[in-house]
Amino acid sequence: EKGRGIGRRAGFQNHFEPGIYVCAKCGYELFSSHAKYAHSTPWPAFTETIHADSVAKRAEHNRPQALKVSCGRCGNGLGHEFLNDGPKPGQSRF
Ligand SMILES: [Zn+2]
Repeated sequence: EKGRGIGRRAGFQNHFEPGIYVCAKCGYELFSSHAKYAHSTPWPAFTETIHADSVAKRAEHNRPQALKVSCGRCGNGLGHEFLNDGPKPGQSRF
């Protein structure tokens, strides 16, 4: 299997229920397809998480415009939140 694009790199995967993306390790709900939008990068982009505690964020001193994002339940690494890089001013891109 060649990892059909979505999510493998970022640590989450498509849920069995349409439109919900969950942690690849523990299955915690992370993102909704409602918050998904087209972006030039090859992996899915979202503006917000499903639950306030869906992800844990940690600042990286060498990247002031990005936060390291991990699963809020199990700590699985998910990638980054890019501040002010969403479709509208002030929104984030996950
Ligand atoms: Zn998890």
